[in-house]
Amino acid sequence: MKQLTSSKSTQICRDTCKSKCCKSTPPALTSEDLTRISNALGIKKEEFANNKNNYFFVKKRENSNDCYFLSDEGECKIYNYRPLDCQLFPVLFKIKRVDSSYLIKWYIWYCPLTDFFTSEFLIEKAKKIIVRYLEKDSGILFEYQSAMYGTGGYKRKHFLFEEKIP
Ligand code: SF4
Ligand code: SF4
Repeated sequence: MKQLTSSKSTQICRDTCKSKCCKSTPPALTSEDLTRISNALGIKKEEFANNKNNYFFVKKRENSNDCYFLSDEGECKIYNYRPLDCQLFPVLFKIKRVDSSYLIKWYIWYCPLTDFFTSEFLIEKAKKIIVRYLEKDSGILFEYQSAMYGTGGYKRKHFLFEEKIP
């Protein structure tokens, strides 16, 4: 399977998929996402986030099922600041601490991106993001996991493999 660049992925999301995931399930927001997006836009989190049982999610646009940040042209208006959930998708993970390492189970949600990218390529991309968080603040990943699975998100995920990250 051909390996493509991430700008190609943006094009596939917009043109081939018509931004389906940005028009359905609202992305979960970690405390780090909330701060990063609030600071970048200079707005309060209440403007773009909903609180559901103490988990935060991006609001939908008024009278629409679209994500608050989806433009009329089908692009993410905060691409460089988008939530962890959006950075990783269609890759999902479960994380657990084992001794001094982390056991990560990798999952995938089959979507048009997986027709163009190999699972290995997508996991490798997601892993770089996860490792950055592990180095900075692993608690954010557990926070994200609680929001995702605590609210029943992504039931149709498909297990790929597990690995230990030191
Ligand atoms: S990540 Fe997948 S489901 Fe979401 S917009 Fe891109 S191609 Fe569509
Ligand atoms: S924040 Fe951006 S990438 Fe994430 S769902 Fe909304 S529009 Fe899509």
